[in-house]
Amino acid sequence: MARTCHPVHLGEPAADPEPVPGCDVCMALARQRAEAYANGDKSKASDRNIEIRRHPHPHPKAVR
Ligand SMILES: [Zn+2]
Repeated sequence: MARTCHPVHLGEPAADPEPVPGCDVCMALARQRAEAYANGDKSKASDRNIEIRRHPHPHPKAVR
C-alpha cells in the first residue's frame, strides 16, 4: 500500500504570520485579514499576509 501523507494544499501558506505588537500597520493589516476571512475572501487575506510578512521592523520595541 502507498504511504499515507496528509493532503497538500498548494498555493496556501502553512500559517498566517503574526502581526507585530505595537505596530499600527501590522495590526491594521491583521484586522483587514480577519475581515477578509470573515467574508470568505481568502485571496485578499493572503495578500494581507504577504504585507504583514514584508513589513519591515528595524526596532520592534521602539515603535514610536
Ligand atoms: Zn508592522
